[in-house]
Amino acid sequence: MIQNSRALIAICILVIFANCKPIKESVNIPELIDRPIVFDENRKQLTLEYLENRYGIQQESPTIEPKMIVLHWTVIPTLEESFEAFNPSVLPNWRPDIKGVSGLNVSSQFIVDRDGAIYQLLPETTMARHVIGLNHCAIGIENVGGTDALPLTEAQLKSNIALVKYLANKYVIDYLIGHYEYTLFENHPLWLEKDKGYRTKKTDPGEDFMYKVRQATKNLNFEPLPKPITP
Ligand SMILES: [Zn+2]
Repeated sequence: MIQNSRALIAICILVIFANCKPIKESVNIPELIDRPIVFDENRKQLTLEYLENRYGIQQESPTIEPKMIVLHWTVIPTLEESFEAFNPSVLPNWRPDIKGVSGLNVSSQFIVDRDGAIYQLLPETTMARHVIGLNHCAIGIENVGGTDALPLTEAQLKSNIALVKYLANKYVIDYLIGHYEYTLFENHPLWLEKDKGYRTKKTDPGEDFMYKVRQATKNLNFEPLPKPITP
């Protein structure tokens, strides 16, 4: 009888554990400094036009459902100059390569300064123009610098890792990519850019930086990237 009771208890414990969901790793919320860029009626309209013209998405509000995180570098040496590049609603004339496609200025939801301080430029679910084909589902993280003279810093690496963990905990994020990897998605269902000729060549934020962020976020189990398209 006692043996039977023990067996019963053991079975109960097994059943309870089997039904337990794995405990989500507790994530430290990184400090996010609010530094909103201009998002006036003009930027809103340009964003809605971008969604419709580039992707065929008609919406009342310029929002996205985040499924991907894209890491970047600005090449611009300081936070202030980087902020000023993203702040105006309209793309300045010095970007003729992409101006013909849309007048919407480039931006991203986050920018990480060289000391690792994280600035939030837009709400995470507001569309930013930072990656061709995928802006409708991608949160962008820019990093100040990225040139030979100003390579990305250890502090930036740490903050990118913390921010990726934080966002992946908050949203269902399937992919983490470096900007230089975006064309791998050309045949993917998430890719919506209509113009086959509209591509820019990217190297940011460097393979080494991506490798380190991926190593540190392995347990988030992001989906593998699509295989390169062979001609
Ligand atoms: Zn980029």
